[in-house]
Amino acid sequence: MDLLHTFEEDAFRDEARAWLAEHVPARPLPSLETREGFAAHRAWEARLHADRWSVVSWPREYGGRGVDIFKWLVFEEEYFAAGAPGRVSQNGINLLAPTLFDHATAEQRARVLPPMASGEVIWAQAWSEPESGSDLASLRSRAVRTDGGWLLSGQKTWSSRAAFADRAFGIFRTDPKAPKPHQGLTYLMFDLRADGVTIRPIGRLDGKPAFAEIFLDEVFVPDEDVVGEPGQGWRIAMSTTGNERGLTLRSPGRFLAAAQRLVQLWRTSGDPADTALRDRVADAVVGARAYQLFTYANASRFAAGSVIGAEASLNKVFWSDYDIALHETALDLLGADGELAQGEWAEGHVFSLAGPIYAGTNEIQRDIIAERLLGLPKGRR
Ligand SMILES: Cc1cc2nc3c(=O)[nH]c(=O)nc-3n(C[C@H](O)[C@H](O)[C@H](O)COP(=O)(O)OP(=O)(O)OC[C@H]3O[C@@H](n4cnc5c(N)ncnc54)[C@H](O)[C@@H]3O)c2cc1C
Repeated sequence: MDLLHTFEEDAFRDEARAWLAEHVPARPLPSLETREGFAAHRAWEARLHADRWSVVSWPREYGGRGVDIFKWLVFEEEYFAAGAPGRVSQNGINLLAPTLFDHATAEQRARVLPPMASGEVIWAQAWSEPESGSDLASLRSRAVRTDGGWLLSGQKTWSSRAAFADRAFGIFRTDPKAPKPHQGLTYLMFDLRADGVTIRPIGRLDGKPAFAEIFLDEVFVPDEDVVGEPGQGWRIAMSTTGNERGLTLRSPGRFLAAAQRLVQLWRTSGDPADTALRDRVADAVVGARAYQLFTYANASRFAAGSVIGAEASLNKVFWSDYDIALHETALDLLGADGELAQGEWAEGHVFSLAGPIYAGTNEIQRDIIAERLLGLPKGRR
């Protein structure tokens, strides 16, 4: 890996920075976890897309710029440094899209990707079920064969932004007689507004209403919305999780920008005599840089043709623990105000607490690291 940026990457950075400086809304948009904020963020996705900044690494035919993963990382750094809005399309762009690039037909890519890039169709991830979170292969929601497609029935839960999203992707049991739980599963895309779908918001600690559970009662899905072969859902889903944990869900740009904001906070609110707190601020900057370098190393391996494997779990544990430490440092800097304030640090802190749970819990990630990366014996299940 060459750590020096190329001339082309620098030119790309300048172009992105100039566009963002001109277009990022002067005032933060309302939270994308509310109906009003969801609509405002959808409009922002369309604005990004109009000038081809919504999915820079995708081929041009789907609305991207066809740039490589390193330029994508550069774009993300600029995006977060500019304080640009959170991406309401992230489940589609970061999770479903890489899966479609690997496993979908050309027809599916041409149909699904452009409206995803423009924010016209916003996707939710419908994997978890009330008794199938970590042990996802035990899921019970089923898809039963019918003329020209499948009928989905069951219950999905903990689905981010499903209350306002348009479509969802998930895995369903299509062969209940398969000998092992992770066999006989099929990866499907479905319409959240179809007949037979009921969506019920789940209360969150911060009171925002977008998190939801999804009830499915014989919801028709045409054959064209099966991703990959029926019965291969587990293998396809595992390629989604590699992307989620390893590269795309939490780009280093997010933490580099947050660490810089923390340094600013230290400058305005820090007590120079409090060296312990000062060290934690410095640790946050070092951590963000370390994560950036580790991600560049992973990206180099990826660009050289290797797939993201168990090392994705290292990323996931790191960024989720890091995010909590960063926000705790900010709250300690703010003192009593931090507990009371409704500002970005207090809200970010509440959200950071979910980091060790979503995208696969850290206990499970540590098991994967122990067994697959370190070769330690299997733990007791
Ligand atoms: C903010 C947030 C957003 C989410 N968004 C989505 C979404 O958009 N779509 C979606 O499908 N899901 C989503 N989820 C669900 C998330 O993926 C699950 O919560 C997660 O996989 C854990 O599953 P669970 O909640 O059923 O907990 P469980 O699996 O019941 O785990 C409970 C505890 O037991 C531990 N545990 C379980 N099994 C083992 C084991 N074998 N060894 C060691 N420890 C174990 C776990 O680590 C955890 O600490 C979201 C969750 C959160 C918090």
